[in-house]
Amino acid sequence: MDFQFSPEHEQIRETVRRFSQNEIAPLVEEAEETETFPREIFKKWAALGLLGVRYPEEDGGTGFDKISDCIVREETSRVSQTFAATWSAHTHLGIWPLWKGGTREQKERFFKPALRGELLSGFGLSEPDGGSDIRALRTRADKVEGGYRLNGSKTFITNAPFADFLMLAARTRPELTADAVSLFIVELPNPGFAISKLKKESIRGSETGLIYIEDAFVPDDCLLGGREGTYPIILDSLAENRVGISANCLGMAKAAFEASCTYARTRVVRGKTIGKYQAIAHKLANMAAEIEAMQWLVYYGAWRVDQGTMDIVTAAKVKLIASEAAVRISEEAIRIHGGSGLMRETGLGRIHRDSLVYIIGEGTSEIQRNIIARDLNL
Ligand SMILES: Cc1cc2nc3c(=O)[nH]c(=O)nc-3n(C[C@H](O)[C@H](O)[C@H](O)COP(=O)(O)OP(=O)(O)OC[C@H]3O[C@@H](n4cnc5c(N)ncnc54)[C@H](O)[C@@H]3O)c2cc1C
Repeated sequence: MDFQFSPEHEQIRETVRRFSQNEIAPLVEEAEETETFPREIFKKWAALGLLGVRYPEEDGGTGFDKISDCIVREETSRVSQTFAATWSAHTHLGIWPLWKGGTREQKERFFKPALRGELLSGFGLSEPDGGSDIRALRTRADKVEGGYRLNGSKTFITNAPFADFLMLAARTRPELTADAVSLFIVELPNPGFAISKLKKESIRGSETGLIYIEDAFVPDDCLLGGREGTYPIILDSLAENRVGISANCLGMAKAAFEASCTYARTRVVRGKTIGKYQAIAHKLANMAAEIEAMQWLVYYGAWRVDQGTMDIVTAAKVKLIASEAAVRISEEAIRIHGGSGLMRETGLGRIHRDSLVYIIGEGTSEIQRNIIARDLNL
């Protein structure tokens, strides 16, 4: 066992920390206010190799590992979850299935340009009738001459308002079985896709789409891997990304905790700094202990991904713990700050609102508990 980050990992952390402070921080307020994501940042991420961190060099990636990917997430999340979530929807949700199951031609056409920031992507799984029960998705893909006709709807799709393509799940057969669900690469704009932007309380600068799909034609060469029944790729992708977004939660928790320590050392009430009051000190002690636990659970998860031994139950445990902890810690941070905690300038209200995304997105906490409980053979 080795619980140390390598010098390369430390260097990535330093690079992303500096980049996030210098390049992202100045853009956050405008992105939140205008609810518009500044896409130019993708080119800058690409120039630093930060879009392909966890993908091998032979596939056009940077050739690092999942631990590095989690470091990028953590450091970006300290500054803005709008940016970290947008990065995640593109670098993982939109393109991981291509890397895992795309044909050679699909990788050349979509995956490699996506790593260069030339094409931006998102992932369309959730539907208005339900996001938790993914096997029951209703969007249909009917086989026609030269391709498929898609009909249905998708909602809460991160990056959809500006994506160049979506990795979209649709039912290629009517049965509610796993092999009836397939993935399609849908190039946008597509005349059969009507996409509108949703207004959110959380990660406001991240653009989220509601999509109506009517008789949209998708050619055969955009069926992922050239075969139907790619549902297992969705499950594997979600398992890995549940670890990934847990690193996003870690970054938010650390930002809220560090701000709280600073405040507790400087805010004076009745002649002493509030950190001297045991009630506040104990809150910070709990936060410190929880962050330590989160940190090693997240990087254990990343290590398991790198070893190729991640499974859906372990991923559910990591996500459940990290996402719930981020909500608790960011709420405690607000309490420690008193009234200032609810003022825009501390940024704590934003962190707390943003932390709520991960107790819902990519499988709610209830769904993670269902996955864990199923494994207990109760
Ligand atoms: C900001 C944001 C971004 C998102 N980005 C994307 C994206 O890019 N792509 C994408 O495909 N989706 C995305 N989602 C959708 C997200 O994955 C779903 O919202 C989530 O899976 C929950 O689905 P739902 O909203 O339909 O809730 P529902 O499935 O309707 O669930 C409602 C409630 O019932 C509970 N529940 C449901 N089933 C069970 C059960 N079997 N046992 C116990 N409790 C249950 C849930 O836990 C929840 O509390 C995003 C969501 C948000 C908020």
